Amino acid sequence: MSAPISFDNSYSRLPDAFFSRQSLQPVSDPALIQVNPDLAATLEIDADWLTSNTAIEAFSGNIALPGSDPIATVYAGFQFGNFNPQLGDGRALLLGEVVTKTQRYDIQLKGSGATAFSRGGDGRSPLGPVLREYLVSEAMAALGVPTTRSLVAIATGDSVQREGIEPGGILTRVAQSHIRFGTFQYFSARQDNQSLRQLADYVITRHFPQLSAQANPYEGLLETVIDNVARLISHWQCLGFIHGVMNTDNMLITGETVDYGPCAFMDRFKYDTVYSAIDQGARYAFQNQPSIAHWNLMTFAQALLPLIDDQPDQAIAIAKARLDEFPDRFDTYWRARSAAKLGLMPSKISAQLYSEFLQLLENHGLDFTLSFAALREAFSTPPTFGKDPAWQDWWTRWREEIGATSSLEQAQARMTKANPILIPRNHQIEFAIAEAYENGTYDRFSGLLAAVTDPFNPDLAKTAFALAPKPDEIVRRTFCGT
Ligand code: AMP
Ligand code: MG
Repeated sequence: MSAPISFDNSYSRLPDAFFSRQSLQPVSDPALIQVNPDLAATLEIDADWLTSNTAIEAFSGNIALPGSDPIATVYAGFQFGNFNPQLGDGRALLLGEVVTKTQRYDIQLKGSGATAFSRGGDGRSPLGPVLREYLVSEAMAALGVPTTRSLVAIATGDSVQREGIEPGGILTRVAQSHIRFGTFQYFSARQDNQSLRQLADYVITRHFPQLSAQANPYEGLLETVIDNVARLISHWQCLGFIHGVMNTDNMLITGETVDYGPCAFMDRFKYDTVYSAIDQGARYAFQNQPSIAHWNLMTFAQALLPLIDDQPDQAIAIAKARLDEFPDRFDTYWRARSAAKLGLMPSKISAQLYSEFLQLLENHGLDFTLSFAALREAFSTPPTFGKDPAWQDWWTRWREEIGATSSLEQAQARMTKANPILIPRNHQIEFAIAEAYENGTYDRFSGLLAAVTDPFNPDLAKTAFALAPKPDEIVRRTFCGT
């Protein structure tokens, strides 16, 4: 058989300081849980081949595909505010890159065994986090959010020891690249400016080739990453998505969402919501995400300083000016998105109405996703959100603003596009994982996956997947589970 994936491994052609070459660590009895034919098409991989025995063996780390050059990459990171000078792919393996007509992608196994960077961990993943990441990352993609994707989910047939014994799993993750703020911070902390420059040049060539024509490409790199992140976080905020572990090793320079550990979509809206059990100080609460992104970008800019200018004062002045643009860039993206959720064009008034709407949701303990969906049906009469007269007042001003700026049809069309019918709800994800653990079957997983990858389909509004959890189903804590 001809090679089903033609790998081209540009990252492993970088100097040895960037990664560690790894041998494969086979698993006992790999079984396919899910493959992603749409993503296979994007990657120009034969979707039928994905379900073949060769593919199952390859995506469980039992065999190497021709041309694959498995490596674990090294990086550092600010974790909950504290700098860790050496992290790295501790439970991930970059198999290689595929180059399509339009784009280069990383293909990575997650949960495939210990690497040089496992720091005592087993490098494995329980099945639960694999199913969770598959569901949420594919939902994010369907919602239009830049994200890493999931190509294959495998049950390994081995168990992993966590709080108890759990079945093991491996996810095949796909990204434009896995280069993180922390990858730059690794070289910066070691004052290895040569590698730092090599990394920056690699990133510019691979992701932002247009920057090489600029007078100062490294300033351009900072500006581009700031913009990517501003756009990404505005999207999270307008979907009620809480990442949960926004450490700089979990921030990709491409502006794709990565690391679906303790993340969660909010049910009831509350500004200070935290799900992650390890986020004791509520550092990564919903409302903090934009300012944390800004702080993370500041640490990224710091790593770039020696490239931006030879004169430290000058480098700082340039970086500071770019960082100071973040709030406005974020606000512009956020305003456009939040206005559309209300059927409006972005303006001071739309932003004000949006914030007031969220405050009302919080005051009344209402569901974020369902409330926006309900608003779309509430043009002629106020929604039955409650007796609070503030609702009537808000609704009257909202209707006036729509009347003053658009036709009803335009407003409704905007709202339909901006407000999903459903998001991957925590309790539904846990039901799917429970079924896999208790019965070894994946019916709930497949049903939920079909729903969350079709999030704007009005026919799904009455299905259980769209509904808020019943009181005894509410999930209040999420765990990395790694
Ligand atoms: P995370 O908090 O998920 O971003 O992980 C932080 C770091 O811990 C990363 O460098 C991971 O590679 C590493 N890590 C997480 N889980 C494991 C594991 N089971 N074995 C080895 N390393 C791990
Ligand atoms: Mg991570």
